[in-house]
Amino acid sequence: MDKHLLSVATDALKKAALNEEAKNYILQNEKLFKTLKKAANRYIAGETLNEAILAVKQLNSKGYKVTTDFMGESIRNEKDADEAKNEFIAFAKAIKRESINSSISLDLSHIGLLVSNDLTKQNLHLICEEAAKSNQEVIISMEGTDRTDQILDIYKESLKIHSNLGITIQAYLYRTSDDFQEIVRLSGSIRLVKGAYDTPKNLSLPRGIKLDEIYLNYTEQLLARNHNCAIASHDEAIHKETIKLIDKFKPTNYVLEYV
Ligand SMILES: Cc1cc2nc3c(=O)[nH]c(=O)nc-3n(C[C@H](O)[C@H](O)[C@H](O)COP(=O)(O)OP(=O)(O)OC[C@H]3O[C@@H](n4cnc5c(N)ncnc54)[C@H](O)[C@@H]3O)c2cc1C
Repeated sequence: MDKHLLSVATDALKKAALNEEAKNYILQNEKLFKTLKKAANRYIAGETLNEAILAVKQLNSKGYKVTTDFMGESIRNEKDADEAKNEFIAFAKAIKRESINSSISLDLSHIGLLVSNDLTKQNLHLICEEAAKSNQEVIISMEGTDRTDQILDIYKESLKIHSNLGITIQAYLYRTSDDFQEIVRLSGSIRLVKGAYDTPKNLSLPRGIKLDEIYLNYTEQLLARNHNCAIASHDEAIHKETIKLIDKFKPTNYVLEYV
């Protein structure tokens, strides 16, 4: 596949990943799936547990810390949520068995958010327990704005039981200026992202200088406090400014995270 086509496919893939209807359409269309899969390979460690473990081992051997997600749909029934939970637990067990180093990233909607809060908390609890056995963190991804409150509530409650839990916050949301002040006072780790989902009008900033300033402001606050954090961005300019902030504050609890 030529470079241009690959880049178009990558953009399509990013959009589809955040849109359930588009995702289902692609999964059912073999030709389209094959084309987009080539672009997706860059982001996929493997399609099986063993492939994922191998990929993590290779990255660990090059000195990289790794985070692994078992990608899935927004689950709408208890059985599928349990199956997803079991996959995460199997991966957490493999981390211990294989002595590899990988945190676990997950969408709460994959383990029951659209079924019930109780089911989600129970599944998250079991995954955190297993990950703790190998000293690994579980990092909750942040989803669309219709789920933000629910995700933050479950995070705050679960953090009272599990110290190995972290949360993703989206710099592009206006509400994050308040959420950040609350979350940064808690002990859990914070992954800072710009934000990927389309939002209703007036809830988020578009890409641009203003958003970059806000992103860097949160970055500075995290690094200055030496809060356990992941600065997750592909933006070269953000990366350069982050390095300057690291030189300034000399934090010890951060990672720079890319997919
Ligand atoms: C580890 C990790 C976890 C994430 N978790 C979440 C989450 O839970 N919720 C959420 O809403 N979003 C999440 N995101 C996505 C995030 O919100 C952004 O959409 C994404 O990182 C692109 O924004 P950016 O900061 O790289 O800057 P942008 O301003 O979007 O892009 C800056 C430059 O980087 C390039 N670029 C963008 N993406 C990539 C890429 N994948 N590979 C190579 N170059 C790229 C762009 O073309 C542009 O030139 C996550 C991202 C990462 C890295």
